[in-house]
This record gives sequence, C-alpha cells and structure tokens, in this order.
Amino acid sequence: MTVHELAPGIVQVQLPLPFALRSINAYLLHDPAGWTVVDTGLHTADGEDAWHAAFSHLGITPQAIRQIVLTHFHPDHYGMAGWLQQLSGAPVYISPRDAEQTREVWELSPDAEEPTLAYFTRHGVPATLTNTIVDVVEMLRASTLPHPELTLIQPGEMIAMGGRQFQSIHTPGHSDGQFVYFAEEGGLMLCGDQVLMKITPHIGWWPNSEADPLGRYLTALEGLETLPVRQGLPGHNRLIEDWSGRISELRHHHEERLEVMLAAVGTSATAYEVACKVFTMARYTPHEVRFAVAETIAHLELLILRGLLRREEGDLVQYVRVP
Ligand SMILES: [Zn+2]
Repeated sequence: MTVHELAPGIVQVQLPLPFALRSINAYLLHDPAGWTVVDTGLHTADGEDAWHAAFSHLGITPQAIRQIVLTHFHPDHYGMAGWLQQLSGAPVYISPRDAEQTREVWELSPDAEEPTLAYFTRHGVPATLTNTIVDVVEMLRASTLPHPELTLIQPGEMIAMGGRQFQSIHTPGHSDGQFVYFAEEGGLMLCGDQVLMKITPHIGWWPNSEADPLGRYLTALEGLETLPVRQGLPGHNRLIEDWSGRISELRHHHEERLEVMLAAVGTSATAYEVACKVFTMARYTPHEVRFAVAETIAHLELLILRGLLRREEGDLVQYVRVP
C-alpha cells in the first residue's frame, strides 16, 4: 500500500491487484463533512490490509468516510465498496447503467448460464481456454462480495468532494456507465479508466456491453479533450499532466489499431484468429486472453460500422472483408 498526499486534503491510495496491472488508485478527499472515497479496489485480504494501513496512516477510522463514489463497476473499482460500506455506513454512488451491470455481471445467480462461455466460444476461442476464462470470471465475482447498497447518481449531477464541486460526466466505452468527475476549481479530473498513462484503457465488447463500445469511447474522449484539466487522477498508473496531449495519443492509438486489425482479418477470420495475430497471446494469462479477444471484437465491430467488414454468423462469428 502506498499513500501519496497529492494536495491538501487529496490523497491517493494504491491498492494491490493480483494481475499484471499491479495496482489500482483509489482517492480520498477530505472536507469538514468527512472523507469521500473514490473507487475501492478488488476485495482481497491484501486489499483489506491496504485500506487499514491507509486509515492508520491518515489517523482516521472508517467511520470518517461520509460517501463512496465509484467511477465504474469493474471489480478493481467496485470490489471493496460493500466491505467499506459495512465498516463506514456510507452511501455508495454509481451511475444507473453501471448499477445495472453490477447485478448482471457480479450478482449472476449460480444456476444461471455463464454468458462468457457461449460468447467466447462463438468468437473462436478454444474450449481449453474458455474454461479457464470462466474460472477467472468466477474468481472476480467472489472478489466483489459483499455487494453494497447502491445510490444512483445521474449524468451531469454535481457532487461535493474535498471541498470542491465535481460534475459527473458520462464517458461510456470502457464500461457502459463510466462517469468521470470534473472540478472546474483547480481543473481536477477524477478520470477512472477513461484516460490512463503508459497503458491504453481497455475497450472491450463483452456479452453484456451495449453496442459499439469503441465508437462510444472515442466520441467520449473527443468531448473531454478540450476541458481545462490541469491534472487527471486516473484509476491506474501515474497522474496525467498533459490532458489533451494524452487524449490525442489515445485516439491515434485506436485508429492505428483499427488498421492493424483490418489487415489481420485477411479475407475472413474469427476474432480469436485476429487476436492471435495482433497480440502475443501465447504469453498471456487466461485473464489477459479474455481482454485481448474482447478488445479485438470491439475493434472489428467498429470496422463493420465503418463499412470495411461484415459479420457472418454460423456456429462461429466470422468477420469478412468487404471488397
Ligand atoms: Zn475498468
């Protein structure tokens, strides 16, 4: 656990993750009414230790938390919200769409059919891999317990955190309902996984995603580019100092990736075949394979919308080059 004081009353807590992406950044913002927690970490024993260490470093108890705000429903952001709510009694805010997603994805009943299995099979992923992918999803589901009681926050709504007024901005694509939070005062942006340094945010088309996540992500990025952001506080890696510069790199990256994916289709291919050409899949864990295939599908589907590919649906989904 690492705690950094970024500015008076604004603290970053790095929480451990058992993946190649080694940590997630949560933020604590202080004002006279108490502390706001933004994002919470994956629920593991190490995660609990990290939060306890952060509280003792700050000389506070969990009861000092007055609200918990989630940028999106992914397990590394949502996972400890229920645990923190039990300790603090604080409300947990999330967007309406991502509140739905927590139920669809994390609270799937044990006798419901696992949507991941059929989905990846149809996209050409071999059975040996789909089974380990399902194990990963089950592990993640277990790392989101207990589920918090959620309070909805609407797009455009203002919320006070750390003595500043932040406005929620809907930035779909990374998740359907991701919100970033912008405070004009000081130009502070709590940007979730919308804009990251070093890595490009994952944009995947999952079984429960709304249509065209990549197209929606790129549109949302365009909308953010001209905001007067002085510092971006992201969900992973280091702080963002050159906001519009980083956004333009991310937009450029996806345009390049679209060209590479189109070339990898050849005349026709499944998403898994394309992913094997574009990513170093042999070196990937099942967790990473699942991200690579979902990311590939998001790009191939946008190429369909741009008129460059079409889809042929049989037992397998084939992407076919439009001549
Ligand atoms: Zn995420």
